[in-house]
Amino acid sequence: MRLVDTHAHIYLEEFDRDKPGMLQRAEEEGVEKIFLPAIDSGTHARMLNLEAEYPGQCISMMGLHPCYVKDNYEEELKIVEDYLAQRPFAAVGEIGLDFYWDRTFTEQQYKAFHQQIEWALRYDIPIAIHSRNATDECIEVVAGHQDGRLTGVFHCFSGNAIQAKKIADLGFYLGIGGVVTFKNSGLDKAIEDISLDHLLLETDAPYLAPVPFRGKQNEPSYLKYVLEKIAMIKRCTVEEVAAVTTANAMKLFNVSE
Ligand SMILES: [Zn+2]
Repeated sequence: MRLVDTHAHIYLEEFDRDKPGMLQRAEEEGVEKIFLPAIDSGTHARMLNLEAEYPGQCISMMGLHPCYVKDNYEEELKIVEDYLAQRPFAAVGEIGLDFYWDRTFTEQQYKAFHQQIEWALRYDIPIAIHSRNATDECIEVVAGHQDGRLTGVFHCFSGNAIQAKKIADLGFYLGIGGVVTFKNSGLDKAIEDISLDHLLLETDAPYLAPVPFRGKQNEPSYLKYVLEKIAMIKRCTVEEVAAVTTANAMKLFNVSE
């Protein structure tokens, strides 16, 4: 069984203690590729170093995370823009809107989101969207840019069935992670009628570890718990979920095997 973790921040210092072990465990569970979403310039070097150390296994995106859109966001965007011009990346990400913590930089978050979508279209690569407490707003922004060429994923999707359908209708994927294993998450109902063709697996490591590791540090090898839960919800085999979601990821990120 081959799996792809489409969203993991395994370059963060939480993993410094046991990086080879963590990646070894991922491989043993069939996790062949791990996509690394950027956060901001404070962690770019860590991300790119990990990618260089594990070529083909760890693959970088580039973008400015909405929680890191602050007063200096224009400088941060310039760094992203320069990287995108320098070399290929799997996606522009993670980008989007986050209205959970505070709304001080709402306007700047919108500007950064729009700008980075333009860059994804320029380089013809997908976007990885962070949409915490802002799913409808992110759907609206994506819909406004959708000219038939824009692709991407709503990472850590945790919305309802109506939002899930809108995202699928936009030609986007839903990134499903550990939240789907949480009691009363409601995600089972939200994705019940969504075709597997629109789903991707992700851990969002080190965050949001699935049951039975809820509250602990997450890692890519735990992807199998998400896989098993989706197979239950979709009433199909884990092999089928693995095959379809892996094919989806390869297609979205344009990875040849
Ligand atoms: Zn993330």
